Amino acid sequence: MLRALFLAAPGAGKGTQGPALAERYGVPYVATGDMLREHVAADTPLGRAAKEHMDSGGLVPDELVVEMVSNRLARPTPLPGFVLDGFPRTLRQAMAAYEWGKDNDRTFDAVISLEVPRDELIRRVQERQRQSGRDDDDLDTFRHRLEVYDRDTQPLIAFYRDRGILLEIEGTGTVTDIQTRIFTALRDAGHGLQGQGGADSDVAPAVT
Ligand code: AMP
Repeated sequence: MLRALFLAAPGAGKGTQGPALAERYGVPYVATGDMLREHVAADTPLGRAAKEHMDSGGLVPDELVVEMVSNRLARPTPLPGFVLDGFPRTLRQAMAAYEWGKDNDRTFDAVISLEVPRDELIRRVQERQRQSGRDDDDLDTFRHRLEVYDRDTQPLIAFYRDRGILLEIEGTGTVTDIQTRIFTALRDAGHGLQGQGGADSDVAPAVT
């Protein structure tokens, strides 16, 4: 059972790699950006509170996001495994997640940091905007999201490195290359598919 999260700048490939990893390990993929966009589309109270922050490329307040994620992970009983994408994004969220994990015997196994150079991120997001038309992908908003990442989220890298669960993965190359690097790093860290100590020697990605 895997409890992992992706920690990476916007546009680094979390939304591509996250679902593939979750599928491989048979655990739910929980993406806070997707959940928030659903709330906005359904015009719920949370969606109304979140919308302006999302549109401007800022962060939705910690307490709203923490409550949304804890509801998803904890109800009706704490999920044994999951792949998180987009949470935690601040140190306060990380501390809340750690407290929740300790209380429920669900602390994270691995934090996957996807490393992609800035110019490549900008190139990718311009491509993504052409395809998806996401408002927060326009270039100025995206640059602001990168600043917010540097200021609020990047410090989590040291937080998880200190906890000994950070896996630093080169996030360039083909989707398949990156997927293989993630599977290999997890296996080498003792979280291969068969669980303990890398018994799973097959790190070839599923072709999807
Ligand atoms: P994403 O799809 O992960 O890039 O998220 C899109 C937007 O949703 C972000 O720019 C934030 O406004 C908001 N968001 C997603 N996850 C979080 C989070 N953990 N904390 C605060 N805001 C979030």
